[in-house]
Amino acid sequence: NDDQFKKVVSHAKEYGYIFASSEIYDGLSAVYDYAQNGVELKKNIREYWWRSMVYMHQNIVGIDSAILMHPTTWKASGHVDAFNDPLIDNKDSKKRYRADVLIEDYAEKLNQKAQKEIEKAKGRFGDSFDEEQFVSTNPRVVRYLEEQRTVLERMARSLEKEDLADVKALIEELGIADPETGSKNWTEVRQFNLMFGTKLGASAESAMDLYLRPETAQGIFVNFLNVQKSGRMKIPFGIAQTGKAFRNEIVARQFIFRMREFEQMEMQFFVRPGEELKWYEYWKETRLKWHLSLGMGEENYRFHDHEKLAHYANAAADIEFNFPFGFKELEGIHSRTDFDLKAHEKFSGKKLQFFDPELNESYVPYVVETSIGLDRMFLAVLSNSLQDETLEDGSVRTVLKLPAILAPVKAAVLPLVKKDGLPEIAQKIIDDLQWDYNVIYDEKDAVGRRYRRQDAAGTPFCITVDHQTIEDDTVTIRYRDTMEQERIKVSEISEKMKETISF
Ligand code: ATP
Repeated sequence: NDDQFKKVVSHAKEYGYIFASSEIYDGLSAVYDYAQNGVELKKNIREYWWRSMVYMHQNIVGIDSAILMHPTTWKASGHVDAFNDPLIDNKDSKKRYRADVLIEDYAEKLNQKAQKEIEKAKGRFGDSFDEEQFVSTNPRVVRYLEEQRTVLERMARSLEKEDLADVKALIEELGIADPETGSKNWTEVRQFNLMFGTKLGASAESAMDLYLRPETAQGIFVNFLNVQKSGRMKIPFGIAQTGKAFRNEIVARQFIFRMREFEQMEMQFFVRPGEELKWYEYWKETRLKWHLSLGMGEENYRFHDHEKLAHYANAAADIEFNFPFGFKELEGIHSRTDFDLKAHEKFSGKKLQFFDPELNESYVPYVVETSIGLDRMFLAVLSNSLQDETLEDGSVRTVLKLPAILAPVKAAVLPLVKKDGLPEIAQKIIDDLQWDYNVIYDEKDAVGRRYRRQDAAGTPFCITVDHQTIEDDTVTIRYRDTMEQERIKVSEISEKMKETISF
């Protein structure tokens, strides 16, 4: 819900996770900076992905291709011609909107009206309420949901046929107004390419028009044969890559969910033609398991199988996550056929084929892709972890229950007081732990307040040095999630932490 989302955004700033880009100049819309804790969380998510994809699969290797690529790449991939959003301007307010988003928001309101009716009926009927029956028979609910479906279907059809006039007609028929000013004075709908352009070279005549890559995948496709040959890879095999991508998104909202500069983690798996659907199923299942392994609640994930497929795909699904604003795409798994490699063969004039020794023939492999936004994953982790807990004494504690393996700081070492040699012992513990973990020292305020500060920052362990430490070399280890405390030997700290947070 809205409040939870606002809390996530302000918590991210207060605890050093995310700042608006160039904030002293009032920020840049849909561009963000990762702060001291954010950069660690992001790095840990990236590493968790990389290890599971590259190190845990003997037939997957990584690359790091350049953001700038030969411009023909984007002709071959279809991005020059088809990577567009339908835009509409309001003539009075001069505001620009995505036409499809205006229509989707309208449809969502119908859905909300239907849900409201259902909630009301639930209250009236109590335990005897049969939701399924109500939804299919109550005239109002039937009408709302029916209209929602027709609106979305008509929009999808018009967009597919590139019938932009009909998209505009739909907006007018539905009486959709500028959400900010209420004006219904719209321009035509037109397509807007999402790629950022730039120039290579200094002089005006010799400069070459380039694009900042809108996805990392093409860097993998154009290197397919280089990797296959130099790594002596045999099909099936995969190439993984993480890196920045850029899209000139028109509707930039929902914090880091939709950014103009963001990071992707993609893997293209090259398979024998005809075997792609088997591998597609394999990767759907494998990727869901990866998500579930973080323990963020099975109920927060669902698959959305695409019925309408992009021209290059013969099967596609999203893994959706339950964000504070509802279930939304987090990752895509696509069976892309031989579309990309064939297109690069055509535009480059180079063969991109694999000689299969078992079949004794050469072919252009089929591709199954898994593609996840690192920033979106970050938002999923952050919003899922932020909780307000009411304690036994009635007080509320704010705790960021990050999966320990992803937490930016693994432990805070706290001397109970700033004297009697306790700070020195704490420092010595840090000197040992920092070889394996990102750990910090904190001596300000009462220890209870320091615990709360670490809870809110997401630190899974606090290690407290007190006067007993001087006598018997033991410390208190406190666990963020349960707030339980245990007395252990200094020499056991590292092992104790490893139980929960090693890869
Ligand atoms: P959407 O429909 O949300 O715009 P998409 O279908 O265009 O996403 P893909 O092109 O399949 O997304 O990109 C793969 C993944 O990259 C997405 O699942 C998402 O996690 C991430 N992603 C795409 N666009 C953005 C963006 N503007 N900001 C942050 N992450 C993004």
